[in-house]
Amino acid sequence: MSTARALVFVLALTASNVAPAADESAAPPPDAAALNKLSARLALVDLKVDVQALPAGERAALAELIAASKIMDALFLRQVWAGNGTLLLDLIQDRSPLGQARLHAFLQNKGPWLRLDGERPFLPSVGPKSPAANFYPADATKEEVEKWLHALPAPARTAAEGFFTTIRRTPTGALQAIPYSQEYQGELARAAQALRNAAALTQQPTLRAFLQARAAAFLSNDYYDSDVAWMKLDASIEPTIGPYETYEDGWFGAKAAFEAYVSVRDDAETAKLARLAGELQEIENNLPIDPKLRNPKLGAMAPIRVVNQIYGAGDGNKTVLAAAFNLPNDERIIKQVGSKRTMIKNVQQAKFDRVLLPISRIALSPRDRSAVSFDAFFTHILMHELMHGLGPHDTTGPGGKPITVRAAFQQSYGAFEEAKADIAGLFALQFLIDKGVLDRGLEKSVYVTFLASAFRTLRFGGDAHAVGMALQLNTLLDAGAVHVAKDGTFSVDTAKVKQAVRDLTAEIMNLQAAGDGAKAAELLRTRAVVRPEVKAVIARLTKVPIDVEPRFVTAEKLLAERR
Ligand code: ZN
Repeated sequence: MSTARALVFVLALTASNVAPAADESAAPPPDAAALNKLSARLALVDLKVDVQALPAGERAALAELIAASKIMDALFLRQVWAGNGTLLLDLIQDRSPLGQARLHAFLQNKGPWLRLDGERPFLPSVGPKSPAANFYPADATKEEVEKWLHALPAPARTAAEGFFTTIRRTPTGALQAIPYSQEYQGELARAAQALRNAAALTQQPTLRAFLQARAAAFLSNDYYDSDVAWMKLDASIEPTIGPYETYEDGWFGAKAAFEAYVSVRDDAETAKLARLAGELQEIENNLPIDPKLRNPKLGAMAPIRVVNQIYGAGDGNKTVLAAAFNLPNDERIIKQVGSKRTMIKNVQQAKFDRVLLPISRIALSPRDRSAVSFDAFFTHILMHELMHGLGPHDTTGPGGKPITVRAAFQQSYGAFEEAKADIAGLFALQFLIDKGVLDRGLEKSVYVTFLASAFRTLRFGGDAHAVGMALQLNTLLDAGAVHVAKDGTFSVDTAKVKQAVRDLTAEIMNLQAAGDGAKAAELLRTRAVVRPEVKAVIARLTKVPIDVEPRFVTAEKLLAERR
């Protein structure tokens, strides 16, 4: 599951878990104090990256990329709602405490609707948010657009249903598809110029190739070559800029929203990732399952990048901040050159500091909470991603014909696959600690940090990660590997946890190899239910922030150097 999709679950579920339960549709819009309280659910953090080691030309290229990204912010505002620009100017001029609270909420949400609360408007006289956003004519219905699309000849229909067109009316009232290169021509021409400026400043050939290709795509509306160039990026600067995710299109999930991530590669973590990836075959050869079920020759991994984010804009900077993403979404690119997973370390660090540590102070025993560490947290996240590639992926279906575990498990697949990646990730870390590849000092931290992050995942419930986590936590509780004290805090039993992790890794992988979908579903029904002692801890987390709101301090410095 892509992070963006997981985020949608978080947002949907946060609405019911965090907001007051009263009938909000009838409630008056929040006053300054109430709105400030809602905004404070995102803790302000300074997002910093050390760019001093970069040559002056590369730093200047970064500043151009930030300038181009700011245009994505303005374009995204327009895509969300045609009234956003006017409203923003009104809010900027309102210096009252209520006006300032509204401006802050507007900037967090990129519009007048609270994304964490089921898109409830926070301003009077703003109606409900249109699921059509500003991708379709405001007076059109979904049925009208659907009927028109179905009647179009094949090539025109492909364009009209594609990522990179809006649907508008002609002067006579008929519908037509307008390419983004035309709809947003002025802004995209400016963004393309900034990308070409950056291309001229960098000394890195794959970065220059991507920037030139993406600048050309902004003008031609053909993103194919630039997506391929993005997959081939091998540079200290990792920019992601353009129209990507389609969640803002509530009608068809078809139209891509503009976003930008300006990041620099984290060389130390990238080296660690390569070291871990180099051990994968040996980990597979030592999985706690029947040797016949192990894969003697693992295939090539999808590329993973570890970066630190300097700037984020548009769809990539609204409410809950992405800590990782999988792109591109274009199936043609995925088939031909694959997709790339980007993990954003400094955003993970911010979430760890402002969300996970406060959770650990409430959920864990005093002895355990002192061992919670970011190194353990982030190394386990990396291992989780790598472990998706290990273990059985194929099984036999009815009549003995070969099918994938995904096909056999159907709706239970996601929860088991996420649980497998988590628990086998712990198994793999222990294996590498025992082998001396990872530091022995990590041993204690790995398990207690995992326990703290279990509560972070379970807090909003619902998605595959949370169901998979409930299964793991219950199994560890039953095995005595996790213990609940009289005061309600949780702790790890270090004598029992290693064996419990091995056993659960084996249980999940054996079930996947057997392809028993009915048994998998039954296991989720009986063992993935959040227990009262866990719910009691979650109920005490109301004061812990939901996420972070970034202040891009390094970006501001780089822009100041540019002026
Ligand atoms: Zn996963």
